[in-house]
Amino acid sequence: FVEREPKPEWLKRDMPRGANYKRLKNSLDGLDLNTVCEEAKCPNIGECWGGKDGTATATIMLLGDTCTRACRFCAIKTSNTPPPPDADEPYKVAKAVTDWGLDYVVLTSVDRDDLPDGGSGHFAQTIAHLKSLDSELTVEALVSDFAGDLEAVARVAESGLDVYAHNVETVERLQGVVRDRRAGYHQSLTTLREAKRVTPDIVTKSNIMLGVGETDAEVQATMDDLLEAGVEILTLGQYLRPTPRHMKVAEYVHPDKFKHWQVTGEAMGFKYVASGPLVRSSYRAGEFAIKAQIK
Ligand code: SF4
Ligand code: SF4
Repeated sequence: FVEREPKPEWLKRDMPRGANYKRLKNSLDGLDLNTVCEEAKCPNIGECWGGKDGTATATIMLLGDTCTRACRFCAIKTSNTPPPPDADEPYKVAKAVTDWGLDYVVLTSVDRDDLPDGGSGHFAQTIAHLKSLDSELTVEALVSDFAGDLEAVARVAESGLDVYAHNVETVERLQGVVRDRRAGYHQSLTTLREAKRVTPDIVTKSNIMLGVGETDAEVQATMDDLLEAGVEILTLGQYLRPTPRHMKVAEYVHPDKFKHWQVTGEAMGFKYVASGPLVRSSYRAGEFAIKAQIK
């Protein structure tokens, strides 16, 4: 989330950090957990970790730090041959997360097109261990498109998780500009539809990144398509350029426009919409889960 161009006022803000944030920060010491919140210097960390009344949320990275894809908005390292996954990670992460004291955990990963199951078995094992250690913990998996492998989608969806999240990232026209060429608009929609079909009781979720050159009509069409695919929670946030080597920001979308998409999405029938310049897919997910009545 490091941007080197002048940014509008609404993207500059102090990070509130309350008692709950401090509790989680201190208790993370000694636990072998790779949080996206800290690694990506996420500006929402005070709000997410500081969530009150059973809503403290964090995002944990599985399957290493090297992705087989290279999206133009993402600062993750890339290789066609990342190191093999740590077979003990599902158990170690489950133990550390439950020791840590979160209410809502988002598990995410790099894309692992090199693995026969795309890493879906690794996710499923982690979720099963987590739920066996703490059945009260709400678990979201923010996964790849598994290159369209619907068995992999079902493996994760049926592992006992609460929220299946996959990000369509942008409108149909800009997919090839923004995402790796192996990703695709309809492939993403198909995986979301499949997750809901095989496990109608879990909640599905997606994110659209604004400010990459999309039109309002295209955002509306994407929201229509996501709703039609059974997606229930939608997040919308501003694209920020991680380094000068990455794709330029086309527009800093005004907060009023984010508000407009929130109101529109809720009127359309999404269970919950989080929309704002600094909103990320996992932003205050624990709190929004309660509002969307999934906890
Ligand atoms: Fe962590 Fe996601 Fe919240 Fe950022 S938005 S602090 S990455 S849970
Ligand atoms: Fe980044 Fe995900 Fe694209 Fe990999 S697939 S480059 S982790 S956005």
